[in-house]
Order: sequence, then C-alpha cells, then structure tokens
Amino acid sequence: MDFRLSEEQREMQAMVRRFAQTEIAPLARQLDEEERFPAETFHKMGELGLLGLLVPEEYGGVGGDVLTMCVVTEEIAYACSSTALSFLAHATLCCHNLACNGSHEQKAKYLPDLASGKVLGGIAMTEPGAGSDALGLQTSAVRVGDEYVLNGSKTFITNASVAGELLVYARTDKDAGPRGLSQFIVEMDTPGVSVGKPFKKMGMRGSPTSEVFFEDCRVPAANLVQGENQALGILLGGLDVERTVGAAMGVGGGRAALDRSLKYAQERTQFGQPIIMFEMVAEKLADMAMNIEAARLLTQKAAVLCDAGVRCSAEASYAKLFATESCQKACNDAIQIFGGYGYMQEYEVERMLRDARVGTIGGGTSEIQRLIIVKELVKRSMGGTQP
Ligand SMILES: Cc1cc2nc3c(=O)[nH]c(=O)nc-3n(C[C@H](O)[C@H](O)[C@H](O)COP(=O)(O)OP(=O)(O)OC[C@H]3O[C@@H](n4cnc5c(N)ncnc54)[C@H](O)[C@@H]3O)c2cc1C
Repeated sequence: MDFRLSEEQREMQAMVRRFAQTEIAPLARQLDEEERFPAETFHKMGELGLLGLLVPEEYGGVGGDVLTMCVVTEEIAYACSSTALSFLAHATLCCHNLACNGSHEQKAKYLPDLASGKVLGGIAMTEPGAGSDALGLQTSAVRVGDEYVLNGSKTFITNASVAGELLVYARTDKDAGPRGLSQFIVEMDTPGVSVGKPFKKMGMRGSPTSEVFFEDCRVPAANLVQGENQALGILLGGLDVERTVGAAMGVGGGRAALDRSLKYAQERTQFGQPIIMFEMVAEKLADMAMNIEAARLLTQKAAVLCDAGVRCSAEASYAKLFATESCQKACNDAIQIFGGYGYMQEYEVERMLRDARVGTIGGGTSEIQRLIIVKELVKRSMGGTQP
C-alpha cells in the first residue's frame, strides 16, 4: 500500500493549485455576491484540459483517472466551492458519464466540445416529485418514428442555464419501475426545452441551479444512450465515481476552513495571547485537521477502487457522507474560531458554511448514504464480497 500520489498526479496537483489560487480564489466572493457563473474560468479550465480530465484522449480529453479528478476537485473546491460544483456537474456527472456509456458516434459528436469547454454540460435527473427516490421519475419519452418525444420537468439542475447539452433521464416504460428508464443527450436549443430562471440559493451562488421543462421536445433516437430502458445500469455504474468526486469537494471546502482558522487563531489575541493558545480553540483545529485527513483517505481509497474497476458503493458512500459532514463541521467551527468576525461577510467563512450546507443534500442526502451503507453491510454479511 502506497499512500503517495504518483509524480504525474503531484504535478497536476501543483498546476491546478497555482491556477486555482490565482484565477479562481480571487473571484469566489464576487461570484457569491453577484450570483454569477464564472464563464471565463471555465474557458481557462477548458484550455488547461481540466474539463476533459475524465474524457479519453481519442475524444479530445486527457484520459485521466478518478484519483486525479479527486485531487483536482479538492484544489478547485479549496479555492471556490461553487466553481467546484459546476465543474463536478460538467466534468464528472456529464462528461465521465457519457465517456463511459455513449456509443462511439455519440462520443465523437459531443465529447470534444465538452472537453474543450466550448460547450458546457450537466445531468438532469431530479424532478419535483422525485429527489431521493430518483428512480420514481416521471418525465416521459415516447418513440415516434426516429425520434423520442419528451414531456415533463426537472428541478435543481446544476449548469442548466449555461449548458449546451444535458444528459436527461426519462421514463420509456411506465409499467417497469426502475427498469423503465432511459438516458438521452439533449441539446438545449432543441425546440420544446426551456430553462427556468436560476434559483436564489443559500450558498453555491456562483453555480446556477434551475428547473428544466420539456414540452413535446423531439430528441433524435440517435441520442438515446445505450438502449431503451437501460438507464438503471448507467445510473448505478456511475454513482461510485460521482459520490467519490463529490466527497473530494468536501475535503477541499473543509481544508479551506481549516487554513483560514489556523491563520486567524495565530493572529488574533485575547487576554494577552493568541487564541490558538487556548485549548478549546486548539482542540477545534486539531479535530478539523484530523477529520479532513480521514475524509481525504476515505475519498482517495474509493477513488483507487473506482480506478481499479471495483464496485465500491459502501466505500464511496463512506467518503461522501464523512467528507461532506466533516466539511460542514469545519466551516461551522471556523465561524466559532473567528467569533463575531466569522459572522461577517468580509471574513468569508460564513460563505464557506453556506456553500458547504448543500454537501449533505446533493448527490444523495446523508440519510440516503447511510441507507446504502447499511444495505451493503447486510449484503456483505451474507457472503457478498468486500473490495
Ligand atoms: C444546489 C443543488 C444542486 C443540485 N444539482 C443537481 C443536478 O445537477 N442534477 C440533478 O439531477 N439533481 C441535482 N440536485 C438535486 C439533489 O440531488 C436532490 O436535492 C437530492 O437528491 C435530494 O432530493 P430532494 O431535494 O427532493 O429531497 P427529498 O428526497 O424530498 O428528501 C427530503 C428529506 O427526506 C429524507 N429522506 C428521503 N427519503 C428517505 C429515506 N428513504 N430514508 C430516510 N430519509 C429520507 C432526505 O434525506 C431529506 O432529509 C441538486 C440539488 C441542489 C440543492
């Protein structure tokens, strides 16, 4: 067992850290205040190859692995969580999903522009009536000739207002439950698709989240991914990677809160000494650091398993659950360490807490992660294999 990143991964980490600190971090406050999507940052991330990190080279990407994606996502989230959320939706939920499941023709048509950032993407699964129970979604897709006609609506879709394409889950067999779902590549300028105004959110305000409506939207049958009623396999196949990269966002956000707190605790004096000298403050810093380290280890272990092609639902859920909850705790403790200043916008830790709050909701809530873990424990106790 070797816990060190490869030389190539360390070089990528150093490059992204430099880029994130010079190009992303300085915008974080402004994006939050103006609720603005950083199109210029995504353009630069495309030039650096980050948007196509999980896209094979033959389709214009870098052909990187999940562990490298986690390292990169941590650095971006450290600089700005909302940039990391839109990056996750584009590079992992959309590009990686399509790279794993699309046909050669679909990948050749769509991936090069997604990898370069010419076109942005996302994934549309959640509906007003189907969140945690995503497999109960009701948006319908009916085949008419060589097209599918989509009707229904999606909600909480990251990047919808800036995306050129979305991977959309729809029901092709209303009587087949989870086995009646299909996935489509939908170009956002297709007649019958409309996007609502981005929601006003508690945090992640630089990452637009919108409703998407389909009214007799005709999608070419060539844009059906894999085949009719095959979306359950697509969905389950991608979850381990999606949750693992989601966990890396929590690691980056938590680390940002720790670093701000460590600096402040050494600078701020009360009762004639830096507040880091008070054991109750020092204890918070130590616990933050320990939790972030543990979250990173869980995340990187799940990433290594994903890269080895091993199914690791429990490990991905451990990582997502622990990293996102640790991130929230770190941000909350950071505010406590900053005292009254922490409650003020100027010191930015209040934004970090607002951003972190979505971590235990999006991509499967903490409650759902616990359900998955228990289900896996039972399966393994009955002789199932442990990765
Ligand atoms: C900022 C943001 C961005 C998002 N981006 C996307 C995106 O790009 N694409 C997309 O498809 N979706 C996206 N989502 C949706 C997200 O995945 C859902 O919000 C999430 O899955 C929860 O669904 P829900 O909001 O409907 O909550 P609900 O499912 O209604 O849950 C409400 C509460 O009930 C609990 N609960 C539900 N079922 C159970 C159960 N069986 N046992 C115990 N407790 C349970 C939940 O844990 C939660 O506490 C985004 C959400 C947000 C907030």
